[in-house]
Amino acid sequence: MSQLQRLHPFRIPLRTRFRRVGERAGVLVRGPRGWGEFSPFPDYPAETASRWLAAAIEAATAPWPAARRDCIPVNAVIPAVAPETANHMAARSGCNTCKVKVAETGIAQRERDRADVARVEAVRDALGPGGRVRIDANGGWDLDAAARMIRALGRFDLEYVEQPVATLAEMAKLRRRVDVPLAADESVRTAEDPLRVRGLEAADLVVLKVQPLGGVWPALEVAEAAGLPVVVSSAVDTSVGLAAGVALAAALPDLPYACGLGTHALLGDDVTDSPLAPQGGSLVVRRPEPAEAAMERCRPDAETARALIRRLEAAAEHLGVRGALPITYSGSQLP
Ligand SMILES: [Mg+2]
Repeated sequence: MSQLQRLHPFRIPLRTRFRRVGERAGVLVRGPRGWGEFSPFPDYPAETASRWLAAAIEAATAPWPAARRDCIPVNAVIPAVAPETANHMAARSGCNTCKVKVAETGIAQRERDRADVARVEAVRDALGPGGRVRIDANGGWDLDAAARMIRALGRFDLEYVEQPVATLAEMAKLRRRVDVPLAADESVRTAEDPLRVRGLEAADLVVLKVQPLGGVWPALEVAEAAGLPVVVSSAVDTSVGLAAGVALAAALPDLPYACGLGTHALLGDDVTDSPLAPQGGSLVVRRPEPAEAAMERCRPDAETARALIRRLEAAAEHLGVRGALPITYSGSQLP
């Protein structure tokens, strides 16, 4: 594998907490083909993180597949916020499709269910009957709660429900109890998962993210193996990571749903001056170049930077590509 030229740790605060974290941090990786992003969530073991590194290395060293379209429709993301905020976010987004987060953990069930209904209603009001509303429970419901809530939310004409329950076995059961399409997200993280989705008839579509699947090419193979419509989503990446998602969405034979790549606004900053931010509900297919000043703004303190580099080294060890890492890192304070 070709040698990587530069590693640049970054840390960017989130505008709204997401997945119980308040920031996104990782390492940008530069190689002969450009920049890639390595930003696994902090609780991931090296084995999981190694797939995220494979995606970063692919972006930095290999060409992506040819684009079949030049523009990607995207959905807005409405986090677990109050209904008034949700309404404003949906109205301001410029998107015709909104994904509303539901089943947030750490709240009493009754209160949570009420808040979920109010939030989805507020978003439906903002979009009007022509808009599309999908929800994402991140596996936070059990089977009965999912069936009950999907029925309660059915009057808002849901496009689909993303990962209502934690496992594919439960998804398969739920799918026979409700008539809203189900999307598998967290359940599809390895190349074998789509075959299980298919075998169990557990979902109507799959959500694919480039970093967890190890790159654009592996994700394209997973899409083919799933044999289901695909929604490409980000992992709340910087524009460097988003570009890989855009490349996947551009390369898919069919793209019937808006993609979850309109997450730029969730981050408080970005590593480029020309971010992949949606205009009128879609993203132009392109690959923004990071800017030195923007990368500098997003540089973490020395201790955090070292910890991020160590995570990357552990992932590289796992991938067997430790030798491809550069000897010196951007930021002379690093060992
Ligand atoms: Mg999801």
